[in-house]
Amino acid sequence: MGQLRPVTVEIALPLADIRGLRYHAENCDKTVSRMNRIIPYVLTALTVLLAPFTAADASSTTVKLPELLRLYVLDCGAIHVADTARYELRREEVETSELSVACFLVVHPKGALIWDVGAVPDSEWQATGSTVVQHLSLPDGQTRDIPLVRSLGAQLSELGYPPPKVKYIALSHYHYDHTANANSFANSTWLVRRVERNAMFATPAPGTTRPDTYAGLKSAKTIFLETDQYDVFGDGSVVIKFAPGHTPGHQMLLLRLKNTGPVLLSGDLYHFPQERTLNRFPVFEFDREQTQRTRMDINEFLKITGASLWIQHDFVANGKLRKAPAFYD
Ligand SMILES: [Zn+2]
Repeated sequence: MGQLRPVTVEIALPLADIRGLRYHAENCDKTVSRMNRIIPYVLTALTVLLAPFTAADASSTTVKLPELLRLYVLDCGAIHVADTARYELRREEVETSELSVACFLVVHPKGALIWDVGAVPDSEWQATGSTVVQHLSLPDGQTRDIPLVRSLGAQLSELGYPPPKVKYIALSHYHYDHTANANSFANSTWLVRRVERNAMFATPAPGTTRPDTYAGLKSAKTIFLETDQYDVFGDGSVVIKFAPGHTPGHQMLLLRLKNTGPVLLSGDLYHFPQERTLNRFPVFEFDREQTQRTRMDINEFLKITGASLWIQHDFVANGKLRKAPAFYD
């Protein structure tokens, strides 16, 4: 559900008026009591005048929410990994050198949450109905060719949850392939760990990021997650789990789906499934030892929760998932 946000109004009065008001206020009790009587009328008038502006926000409350928690898998492209050695893997050890880029929309009876927002901003390319390969130049000199079919915005609109109707945004972490459309959600509430946010807005920015794609989050309403597990809607069905190492505030998302069962979205704890089976690590971890500890913790967490681990970048596994508008519930 959307929220009405408080509106601050500044009224500029000519200096003479301010001086006059101050004179009366300081010297005449009658003027003060008269002003006190007038203020409620002024506020009522302002409320009426501002109604058209607050109404746009209020319209987000009309979004239709399902009775059961839903998980939509959205297509945000793919990444071709030219050199699998970046993941301590030989080419023959992996089934494919492609990585999927998945974005997820979680719709709870109390509101929607977007989890990861793609590798290419919608504003940088035009959908044509067939695959468009977008060439990306990253600030650190790396390049990527990302095949795209549909924009994230179009996929969300088709589901009835365009960005203004998405209550929460949470990113697994700050790398460019997870933040591309973050600016579209600057009016949502951002769920992030303080250490991750600090790194995102530090100078210089961390490697493999595109700070321009998430600059809008700087002024977004923000909830800093401080517990190991953060229960987004208060009923245990959508839980953000701290999983540091890949980045300092890397996190994962647990969904307790009634018919599908519990699912844990991996963030980038792994990219290729062989990192898990062969115990390999990307060479660009923020803290490799921390990732190692997190992987052990998550193995325990999977046992306790009985959750299935969905490796977001696993191209083969992602190819088998039901895509929006179909969903998991
Ligand atoms: Zn990634």
